[in-house]
Amino acid sequence: MRKILIVGAGHSGLHLAHGLLGHGYDVTVITGQSSLEIRTGRPAVTQVTFPTALDYERELDLDFWSGQAPRMQDFKIHMYPPGADPVALKGRTGQGDRYAVSIDRRIKMADWLEYFEDSGGKVVIHGVTLTDLDYFSRMFDLIVVAVGHGELGALFDGDSARFSGARPRVVAQANIYDVLPETGESENIGWAASTADAGNMIFVPFLTADGPCHSLFLGDKRGGPMDAWPDRPRPEEQWRRMRELLRKYAPEYYERVRDASLVDDSSTLVEYFTPQVRKPVGVLPSGGLVLGIADVVITMDPFVGQGWNHSTRCARSYLQSIVEHGDRPFDEEFLAGAFERFWRYGLSVQRFAELNSTLWDQELPPHFQELLGASMTYPEVGDRWIQGWDYPPDYENWLYDPELARTYLTEVAAGHGGR
Ligand SMILES: Cc1cc2nc3c(=O)[nH]c(=O)nc-3n(C[C@H](O)[C@H](O)[C@H](O)COP(=O)(O)OP(=O)(O)OC[C@H]3O[C@@H](n4cnc5c(N)ncnc54)[C@H](O)[C@@H]3O)c2cc1C
Repeated sequence: MRKILIVGAGHSGLHLAHGLLGHGYDVTVITGQSSLEIRTGRPAVTQVTFPTALDYERELDLDFWSGQAPRMQDFKIHMYPPGADPVALKGRTGQGDRYAVSIDRRIKMADWLEYFEDSGGKVVIHGVTLTDLDYFSRMFDLIVVAVGHGELGALFDGDSARFSGARPRVVAQANIYDVLPETGESENIGWAASTADAGNMIFVPFLTADGPCHSLFLGDKRGGPMDAWPDRPRPEEQWRRMRELLRKYAPEYYERVRDASLVDDSSTLVEYFTPQVRKPVGVLPSGGLVLGIADVVITMDPFVGQGWNHSTRCARSYLQSIVEHGDRPFDEEFLAGAFERFWRYGLSVQRFAELNSTLWDQELPPHFQELLGASMTYPEVGDRWIQGWDYPPDYENWLYDPELARTYLTEVAAGHGGR
């Protein structure tokens, strides 16, 4: 039986570990925190699991929470242009009755880790060093490094050919109760915003260990107006500042949260990081090779809310590559090829992230404004826009290119009798 070591019990590592276990591999997960430590530890950046990622989790029997989590069937995006009124577009999160959920990563990862062990996987609790990896490389057929933003990721070189520019970001987040619903809308609608004067927001109904609440996420460039946390304020002070930022830059959001309160003392976080793409194959001091996955190799700009989506798809793509590879050696050609296969998808997501990161660097292009306007007349335009979050490569077909956008709008109008 082929022996595979996965370093890191986060989202991609555990998704891949469960998939490999199901295919009969001898899988060991080694990670710095036990399930109890994850469960009772610091909050992590909120993830949104879009419908297809949820399907992939269900394929592995990993969707334990959809029965209790608020179901986001609709999403609304607010755009705040400079010196003008905001524009909002709304759409269905998925076709039919499909939905997205957002679940506290502490519950999700702790449950997945315990379920992995209960299913026969091996778990070792240990913070891995480079020296450890070198030692392990003699014991396993394949090592996958799934440490997210952990320091071990430095083993992988940056890949400037796949990434046009590093934009340092800051993210502030709070989990809150007593959010006011939007009049006339579902209580479980997800909101997201992009502002010209500050950064971005993601505001979603959220499931914690204590039940449903909301999670509010503010992201900005480092040093931007929403980088208001250099002194690492206490939770209540952070929450006060977050509300003040909303009052100034996104009043619609402020109105919904002005009477809200933190879920508990462990409901806020601030993270600084720099999105990047790295080369997927790491070389150990002894010459052994390891494969990087998800955030280790592609860290998305948080403005696009794709972290969870791309780590699910990366894990699933690697699983397919490993299984199809059979008994052949996991050599450099295989490792690089597994990443290339995922990159066909990752490239489109990177392009989407790039668009969002630079959205306000110039005036919105006319075709973009036409699409926004059309979304108010034709619901299917809003639906397609929102459903692109589930599968960003679809944007290539209609959003980026003015000609494709106009062809699409002509087709939509024709479907409504040319009106
Ligand atoms: C800054 C930031 C921004 C994000 N933005 C988004 C977003 O916009 N949208 C979204 O949906 N999600 C976002 N996410 C969250 C999303 O959950 C991540 O993209 C996803 O978790 C990445 O999965 P991963 O497996 O690569 O890493 P993670 O889930 O972070 O897992 C890493 C694991 O490795 C372990 N580890 C680290 N170092 C070691 C070591 N030396 N030895 C052993 N174990 C180790 C950690 O304990 C952890 O278990 C963001 C996360 C961060 C941190």
